Amino acid sequence: EMLRGKRVIVTGASTGIGEQIAYHLARMGSHILITARTEARLQNVVRRCLELGAASARFVSGTMEDTAFAQHVVREAQTSLGGLDMLILNHVGASYFGFFDGDVEHVRKLLEINFLSYVAMTTSALPMLKESEGSIVVVSSMAGKVGFPFTVPYSATKFALDGFFSSLRQEFAIQNINVSITLCILGFIDTERAVRAAAEVLRERPAPRDECALEILKGAALRRRELYYRYSSTRLPLLLRDCAAELLDYLVRSRYRLPAPPGA
Ligand code: NAP
Repeated sequence: EMLRGKRVIVTGASTGIGEQIAYHLARMGSHILITARTEARLQNVVRRCLELGAASARFVSGTMEDTAFAQHVVREAQTSLGGLDMLILNHVGASYFGFFDGDVEHVRKLLEINFLSYVAMTTSALPMLKESEGSIVVVSSMAGKVGFPFTVPYSATKFALDGFFSSLRQEFAIQNINVSITLCILGFIDTERAVRAAAEVLRERPAPRDECALEILKGAALRRRELYYRYSSTRLPLLLRDCAAELLDYLVRSRYRLPAPPGA
């Protein structure tokens, strides 16, 4: 009920968690603007959103490698929705799963997609969000709170999000800006990309993406500062970070089925 009639942008909504967020918003009767690169998928998601009861649904396709595109999506909300209540930043660029390969250009490109476009969209959307006293939702990961092996570039981009948005939240408090920032710390979720990349090597079972999407929206509607899903595999282990960091590192490594080290 809290999201009925609200104007929401969801990035990375052609598949995975973003697609499920769009469907929940549709059932709640929101106005939805979705974005990603693959137009055919976005068209299908928009069609389904309208069937599910969205107040309105539209898409803009393009790549978040381009800061100008990130800004364009926000302008589209201004012209087609007349404002914005919630900005859900969820898209993620492709990366590899394996030891860091030293490719600095890949790290730079991933920072542009996973971090700088989030900054650009937030900056462009802020006047509208201030007016509506709205919300920013940043989809991050356990890999953005504690060091993870095999996803070094990805983890770096997620840590950057925490630094930027946690600092921005402080400045909002100082300036009495009533825009909430919810940082979502997710564990392993059953999206196609994640399962393809990690199911063979991770010992844990992935959590369902539709439930994950609903928890994100609940946390956003309640203007939580951080949201942990699932709590048992994210918040609880993180309690060890300050008092037993090496134990936490060990527990993270023990989640993987690792090959025997050379010479073992
Ligand atoms: P996903 O299924 O791979 O979806 C990623 C979305 O981002 C797609 O809609 C994709 O659409 C879009 N995208 C990719 N590259 C893009 C680009 N250059 N420009 C614009 N859009 C682009 O991912 P997911 O598993 O749902 O993850 C969603 C969020 O949850 C991410 O922020 C991820 O880090 C976080 N998360 C996921 C897991 C997990 O286990 N699944 C765990 C922790 C955190 P196109 O290809 O059509 O552009």
